[in-house]
Amino acid sequence: MKNNNHIQIFLACLLTVSMTMACGQLSGESVSPSVAITAVIVPEEAVGVEPSAGTSGLGDSLYPGFGNGGYDVDHYTLDIVVNDVATSNLSASTTIEASALQDLRSFNLDFVGFIINGITVNGEPADYYRKGQEVTITPLKPLVDGQPFTVVIKYMGSPEEMQSVALPVQTGWVTVDGGSFVLSEPDGSASFYPVNDHPRDKATYTFRVTVPNPLEVAANGMLIETLEKGDKTTFVFETRDPMASYLATINIDEFDVENMQSDNGIPIRNYYSTELPAEVRKPFARQGEMLDYFSEVYGQYPFEVYGSMVMNTEFESALENQTLSIYGIDMIDYEDVEGTELTVAHELSHQWFGDSVSVADWSDIWLNEGFATYAEGLWIEHLNGREALDDWVKSQYADVVDNQAYYPAPGKPPADDLFNGGVYVWGGLTLHALRLEVGDEIFFEILKTYFERYKNGNAATDDFTAVAEDVSGKELTEFFNTWLYNKEIPPIPVMELGVE
Ligand SMILES: [Zn+2]
Repeated sequence: MKNNNHIQIFLACLLTVSMTMACGQLSGESVSPSVAITAVIVPEEAVGVEPSAGTSGLGDSLYPGFGNGGYDVDHYTLDIVVNDVATSNLSASTTIEASALQDLRSFNLDFVGFIINGITVNGEPADYYRKGQEVTITPLKPLVDGQPFTVVIKYMGSPEEMQSVALPVQTGWVTVDGGSFVLSEPDGSASFYPVNDHPRDKATYTFRVTVPNPLEVAANGMLIETLEKGDKTTFVFETRDPMASYLATINIDEFDVENMQSDNGIPIRNYYSTELPAEVRKPFARQGEMLDYFSEVYGQYPFEVYGSMVMNTEFESALENQTLSIYGIDMIDYEDVEGTELTVAHELSHQWFGDSVSVADWSDIWLNEGFATYAEGLWIEHLNGREALDDWVKSQYADVVDNQAYYPAPGKPPADDLFNGGVYVWGGLTLHALRLEVGDEIFFEILKTYFERYKNGNAATDDFTAVAEDVSGKELTEFFNTWLYNKEIPPIPVMELGVE
């Protein structure tokens, strides 16, 4: 993610959100299925075991309530009919294929707003209860550890406006004039589908989205089918690889679609809002070259396709949605194509670090943003050589030194300011310092090994530092402690950089 909002708003976001949850959102709503339940049949395997409730959070160190425990989702199918584009009024159904990780009497999903029209588990109506962002579902029969199960949730209404816990911007499904877009990092997904909303529970997705003609849909993965019926069209997208929930995106607009591929054959499809001028495409022209370059540096591009989508709306952000990064129009500087290309390189490189290798805990966010920021430097080096990289490093370092309040140490970001300047710039400088510490050859081997070991999964800071020590054969505890947690940015003596 990258955003333009350099004005720090020290709102007590956490407070605001917890108040919304406590008082704004909803009085609890309990619904029983309209069937007579005479007896609960406990499966044979469960005899002698006390099934318990899955936890309502995954224990993230910054956001303990995010996600849910007791099960693992394999696949989501989102069936969404957009009844009214102006209000994003939806009739929807989400099907979740999951496996129980323990004997479960009940389990939770994260979901905000909408009227729920019914929930089934394995085809049978289930009890559910809503409180704040949590939907607690009690199946007719308890689920047994290891058992696959299917949940279907039918719902309708318009997505509620959601402000993130982590930064003061609207997240999730956002309705705009003539369409809508989705930008969910870190907690917006629950605004449009019931979800186990933590990057640790990755799953594959099918999106089946029906919109009135002539609108179109852009979502993650490949468009596999377009079905026109009357004055509506259904767009079906499939993702090949597992994806963190915050990267799921559905965008509705009229698009110019641009297809191309990298020299090495990676397919690219870009979606540009039709109202945008042709110049909007310029900063994206080198994506093929970027995909091939980063494949060389990090390891083979991990997904089946890539591309970018530009909305004709200002939202001061770009986000690396898996296989389809999204840009607000205000992220494109027509006067500075090369500058915008750095943002394009940033989002594209996140496909490796952020999307394929995802954080195990949100406090590890520098593993996303520090890496993507350093990728900007690597792209500069690729185009203009080492001296240009050194100049870039010096200006990044000077920025941190001159604005220390804006750049806290990257290792422990505060929960209400997850995307602070430190996780980006200081995080990126940490990688450059590591490169100087171990030498180029070993540094790039560290990046490749880290990607190879954790692709399609999750990694924590300790996992990265362990790879760095393994590959380099050096003891790096003190190095990383200083670079990730020191109050003041450490000096880089070789480059004559330090705090006065
Ligand atoms: Zn980023």
